[in-house]
Amino acid sequence: MMSFMPPSGKVFCDKCGLEFNLRKVKIEEERLVRNRLGYFFQCPHCQAKYPFASITKRGQTLLQSLKVARRDVKQAIGNRKRYPIVLSRYDKILAKYQKEVGGAYPNEEVIVND
Ligand SMILES: [Zn+2]
Repeated sequence: MMSFMPPSGKVFCDKCGLEFNLRKVKIEEERLVRNRLGYFFQCPHCQAKYPFASITKRGQTLLQSLKVARRDVKQAIGNRKRYPIVLSRYDKILAKYQKEVGGAYPNEEVIVND
């Protein structure tokens, strides 16, 4: 179900079969083992849980750097000297960031808060 997102955002829950809109579900976070954060949403009808992404602490920090680097790239458009420099820096951060993010995770990796 989660391999693609139709333009309408409408999908059917694998568990209860009812339709819901992916654009309207609330994305929630939870702590995972190995110092990571998991992202998931739930079916509004039966609460079936759909984990779809995970990111490490380092990945979260890199994401901030990536935002700054992307802004620098945009601002450097048209500047022949500066553009290749900021673009190469952006690419380097992006490559590091991609190593810190993952897709769906098994429920066993979730740290249960007590
Ligand atoms: Zn459901």
